[in-house]
Amino acid sequence: MFVKSEMLRAPHAFSTRAGGVSTLASTESLNLAFGRGDKDDTVLENLNIFGGEAEFEPRNVISLPQVHSSAVHKVDRKYAGLGYYKRDYENYDIREGDGYVTDDPQIVLGVKSADCVPILMEARDRDGRIIAVGAVHAGWKGTVGAIAAVCVEKLCGEYGANAYDIYASVGPCIHKCCYEVGRDVFDEVIARLGDKYAEFFVNSGKSEAGEDKYMCDLPGINCRVLTDAGLQAENIEALRYCTCCEHDLFYSHRYTKGNRGTMLSVIRMP
Ligand SMILES: [Zn+2]
Repeated sequence: MFVKSEMLRAPHAFSTRAGGVSTLASTESLNLAFGRGDKDDTVLENLNIFGGEAEFEPRNVISLPQVHSSAVHKVDRKYAGLGYYKRDYENYDIREGDGYVTDDPQIVLGVKSADCVPILMEARDRDGRIIAVGAVHAGWKGTVGAIAAVCVEKLCGEYGANAYDIYASVGPCIHKCCYEVGRDVFDEVIARLGDKYAEFFVNSGKSEAGEDKYMCDLPGINCRVLTDAGLQAENIEALRYCTCCEHDLFYSHRYTKGNRGTMLSVIRMP
């Protein structure tokens, strides 16, 4: 049904593909995205099931169409439901998004993935109280755009958090055992994040066109982005699940060549 972080104290969950009502071979069974072949009612029923198990109000989830940006939106209860129960986007000033922060307990932050990296965060004050939470979707484009660092900046800038007191959990995603990329991804990471990020790539041979290929440690890059943004290494946790290796438990875009359902990772204020 879902997996959790050992470290975060805020209510949260990373969904798996198990426990839902989708019956298509590709989406069986807890598909949480529209447009993957399931009826919309099936997706909402899955969201209700997930909410019941993971203890969040499904009608409060915001999860907008994702566009591989590095923008992080500050949201509150006005946006609760947007992307699932409310899709009248024309009435809102944000219509797509890959990241959110909030300090409002009446909204649940949600990011969708199926190999991309979901990252959930909480900012605590000096007494250990949670003052705000954040969620981001980081594929390789969001990763090189340092969306994880943008989320940290937002938590600090909007809610007075200190990066030193932010905790982050990097959820189930594709790991370097399965994530082979081309020279374009390697070059973009080095150009935008710096030379030291070369250590997250291992040369894996050549493409038919003779270009270098690499196994890429996408969760590792995001963990480094977070320490570069000021988080303590011991406040960052990367879950061990590789969505591609464990395609029976998770949806994997790469394993299925794109014919798959979608998971949802959620976090909310206590
Ligand atoms: Zn793997």
